[in-house]
Amino acid sequence: MVKHTEDKGTFKDPVCGMEVSQISAIAESQYQGRSFYFCAGVCKEAFDTDPEKYLSKKRPQRKKMP
Ligand SMILES: [Zn+2]
Repeated sequence: MVKHTEDKGTFKDPVCGMEVSQISAIAESQYQGRSFYFCAGVCKEAFDTDPEKYLSKKRPQRKKMP
């Protein structure tokens, strides 16, 4: 029997940047149809409070108008 794991399912905790897997994740949150996994409940809470803050982190959106 070949055990095939197509994807380990590791996700980056958007709050602290830690890598968590679906199995090791403590908390999970849904946002905009996507699932996010967190290493701790506090990370989920922080994300739920202001998801955009952590998602927009990927793209530098610093608009500096003179
Ligand atoms: Zn975390």
